[in-house]
Amino acid sequence: MKNFWESRFLPLLFLLLGLVFSSLIAWKSALWIQETEQIRFQSASNHIASLIHKELDAHIQLIHSVAAFMNASNHVSREEWKQYALENHINEHFLGFRALGYAPLIQPSERLKHEQSVRDEGFPNYTVFQLNTSSTSAMFPITYMEPLSELNEKAFGFDLASEIIRKEALHQSFIRADATLSSKINLVQKYITDHQAGFLIFFPLYQNRDVPSSEEERLKKAKGIVYIAIDAKKMFEQLLQSNYILVDFEIYDGMTPLEQNLLYNSNPDLTVPRLSHYVSLEIYGKTWTIHFKAQNALEMNNSRYFPWLQMLFGLLLFSLLSGLIYVLQRTRKKAYAIAAEKTKLLAKSESEIRSIFQTMQEGIMILNDQGMIVECNLAAQEMLQLSKSEIVGNFSSDSKWSAVQEDGSVFDREERPSYKAFHTGLAQNNVIMGIKREDGSHLWVKTNAQPLYSDDFEKISSVLVTFSDITAYRKSKYELEKYLQIIDAHVIISSTDLHGMITEVSEAFCKISGYTKEELIGRSHNIVRHPDMPTTLYKEMWDTLKKGISWSGEIKNRRKDGSDYWIETIIEPRYNEEYELVGYTAIRHDITDKKRVEELSITDRLTGLYNRLKLDELFAHYLSIAKRHQALFSIILLDIDKFKSVNDTYGHQVGDSLLQEIAKLLKTNVRFEDAVGRWGGEEFLILLPNSNSEDARLLAEKLRGVIEAENFAYVGSRTASFGVATYHQNDDEKSMTARADEALYLAKESGRNRVEVEIHTCHLPSSSTLS
Ligand code: GH3
Ligand code: MG
Ligand code: MG
Repeated sequence: MKNFWESRFLPLLFLLLGLVFSSLIAWKSALWIQETEQIRFQSASNHIASLIHKELDAHIQLIHSVAAFMNASNHVSREEWKQYALENHINEHFLGFRALGYAPLIQPSERLKHEQSVRDEGFPNYTVFQLNTSSTSAMFPITYMEPLSELNEKAFGFDLASEIIRKEALHQSFIRADATLSSKINLVQKYITDHQAGFLIFFPLYQNRDVPSSEEERLKKAKGIVYIAIDAKKMFEQLLQSNYILVDFEIYDGMTPLEQNLLYNSNPDLTVPRLSHYVSLEIYGKTWTIHFKAQNALEMNNSRYFPWLQMLFGLLLFSLLSGLIYVLQRTRKKAYAIAAEKTKLLAKSESEIRSIFQTMQEGIMILNDQGMIVECNLAAQEMLQLSKSEIVGNFSSDSKWSAVQEDGSVFDREERPSYKAFHTGLAQNNVIMGIKREDGSHLWVKTNAQPLYSDDFEKISSVLVTFSDITAYRKSKYELEKYLQIIDAHVIISSTDLHGMITEVSEAFCKISGYTKEELIGRSHNIVRHPDMPTTLYKEMWDTLKKGISWSGEIKNRRKDGSDYWIETIIEPRYNEEYELVGYTAIRHDITDKKRVEELSITDRLTGLYNRLKLDELFAHYLSIAKRHQALFSIILLDIDKFKSVNDTYGHQVGDSLLQEIAKLLKTNVRFEDAVGRWGGEEFLILLPNSNSEDARLLAEKLRGVIEAENFAYVGSRTASFGVATYHQNDDEKSMTARADEALYLAKESGRNRVEVEIHTCHLPSSSTLS
């Protein structure tokens, strides 16, 4: 069942309620207005009726007093009458007042006499006139009249009994012996111009003044009549003017509101009034019917619309209320939806965290503030080879697992990361521990401990311990270290920075070079450079390395003790993680022994110079270059002068030693690229690549001078002779040495201690023809 407050019909219900409620209020309000209006209308009507009554009463009072005045003496003269009227201000005091008159009863026989008497009073034109001239009964001609205005004069002499309505009223008056109202009449004063409705009030005068008791006597004893003529329109209009009345009315003479009997209509335009009310007024022998009518009986103006406004306002209020309920419902619904979504997300993320917690490769434990394990994940269980129930509830210092340091010593409880994290409030990172499992094997872990604070950050509520298994890593690291030790001991490695300064060297490097690490680091490799190694070799090496290309080659180095060793070197550029060149690493291996064997096969044992075998190889090599590249190439052939006498004089050994000394002089006085070898006996051949005939001659001359200047052991000064030859097209070893030999022969012939250059002729036979 849905909550009532969530029902989507609730706003509609409120709207409906509002409609009913507002309608009820508006209906009640309208009812109240209607009732009030009715009461007001009623009271206004009554007020008007009483005003009419009051006004007529005033007229009746007047006629009473006039009658009393007339009865006061036997004869009231016209002058007295006029005086009386003036004194009473009849014209001013009575609303609608038209005329006050006196009509004596005149028998037809007395008519002329009457007329004569009036004429005598100063009205020569006076004559009694009748509406119905055939009447023969007693007449009531209007004799006295006030005010005798021009208008009223028209009625002067009019026989009141000659007209049926007046006659009827006269009759009634005498019978009633009281003031009596006539029916509606058209006033004589006006009947020619307009038929203005009016009425008369009669008061009877009897002979001897007393009122006879019987009706018959009253008619017989009639003497005359006083009357007041009233203009109905004027009277009621004035009545209305003097009063504040919201209600209109129609006054009819008689019991029924007939058009012909209408005395007055205050508002002829209002024919279908909203409020209507008939009243019968019994007044002085007549019945008047007053029809009160009104469109509105209250001065309400726009207040009439008040109920509608009320209803509208109520509706608006309830619409707003239902709108508000609708909005609140929606907001509430939305809030519920958001809350549900958030709860779902929260549950999802919680389950995600839980599954991460469980599937993480790292072991995780949560320790409470007592140091007791309250939670652990699968990885922790697997690493410790214990079930969750065997772990949770125990303390980190439990005997199930004892911890050791890397060096095998016991890991004190106070030193453990969880203990330290809890007691210092600081995270403990990358602490390596060996945990002894129940089966005796060691689990090596890298541990972190993070203190977790309570919600108010006041105290540490628990410690999160994470640990990763590094047993395998530790093993491989140990093995790697072993290998590295082997490499360090046996592989000659060095690293330099970009400027060639040594940053690292292996033990093997120290061993072969005879220097300690301290002596090498920070120095350049020049420390082991051998002077035999040409500068060009190092230049080429650096040019290659600077291009980022590795270089390899064989290098002869010199130990700290001055001895040589040969190494085959591979130098690799070294980059950092950002692929920036940071230096060079060289790996070498010792090729001294190989080099020794190689040297022996190409070296002349006695002099240490190249032997004939090597000279032949080099000769062929230089020749091929000269042929291919049209390069210059010259040779010097030299022979010691009179050597035989040395042997003969000092012995063979002295001869050998002289050969060694001269060999050394030659070696040290030629260029690096020049090859000096023993050609045979006491003859030497020097190969000079990139040298023309003149270069060779100059060198030969220089060597000749050096030998000549030398003071040799035992033998003192000695000389030598030189023959120079240069490569020509199609030359081979034989042809070149032949020409050098020829030059040498010439030098000997010319007196020795000389240099002779070949005599080259184009027609010399080519090597091919010679062979
Ligand atoms: P010349 O000025 O004409 O050259 O006179 P020479 O005495 O030097 O004559 P020649 O060149 O023919 O002499 C060669 C001698 O050199 C012969 C030989 O006894 C000697 N000889 C050759 N080989 C060796 C060697 O290995 N050791 C010694 N001690 N003597 C040698
Ligand atoms: Mg010789
Ligand atoms: Mg010789």
